[in-house]
Amino acid sequence: MNLLVLGPQGAGKGTQAKRISAEYEIPHVATGDMFRALDASTELGREVGEFMARGDLVPDALTVEMIENRLAEPDAADGFVLDGFPRNLAQARALDAMLGGIGRVLDAILFFSISDEIGMERALSRAALEGRADDTREVIAHRLEIYHRETEPIVEHYRTTGKLIPLHADRSIEQVWSEISEALQQVVAGVGSTEPDKSGAAGFAGGGAQR
Ligand code: ADP
Repeated sequence: MNLLVLGPQGAGKGTQAKRISAEYEIPHVATGDMFRALDASTELGREVGEFMARGDLVPDALTVEMIENRLAEPDAADGFVLDGFPRNLAQARALDAMLGGIGRVLDAILFFSISDEIGMERALSRAALEGRADDTREVIAHRLEIYHRETEPIVEHYRTTGKLIPLHADRSIEQVWSEISEALQQVVAGVGSTEPDKSGAAGFAGGGAQR
């Protein structure tokens, strides 16, 4: 199952993606985590760290190449849950091309919707727990601004596939998880059917996605 989680800062994508990864035994491929894991003493690590500290996007070429290599690893052969990528239209097109090249498609795009206010509060409380250097109010606000400008347009790109599953991300972790697992049961039932979904209708989760 090839999945994507999409949504603003503080929406809970990482939390739910980790659980999906555990339940469905597919790797959680999170660009932010991968960038944070780079050795800061190397030229690459230092450069990437500067973009991250400002809350700016790391250049597409670098990001796309990293994802392409990651998805080619054997543990991703049966699926993956992508988190933090794509973050703009160029990356979304690169992902389409990349998957097309290896004869794979996304099975579902989980879209976490939440207000900026709640997202900001959550990101700030995470900052208190994890001490991430880019989780200051100013940098989060900048990342949200980039989200609205660069990332939000890809929601429409994916809505046209009929595979977008909107989630009410302002609910509790357990409530969001139950929306997700209900929707994914239907996705699993549909995986393997080679006919693409032509309905164009986005399934609204919360009562289970219609597909
Ligand atoms: P958040 O979703 O809270 O912004 P992430 O861990 O996903 O946190 O991302 C942290 C930082 O990593 C981003 O602000 C950006 O600098 C970099 N980054 C992550 N994913 C991408 C991507 N797909 N393209 C460019 N930069 C990225």
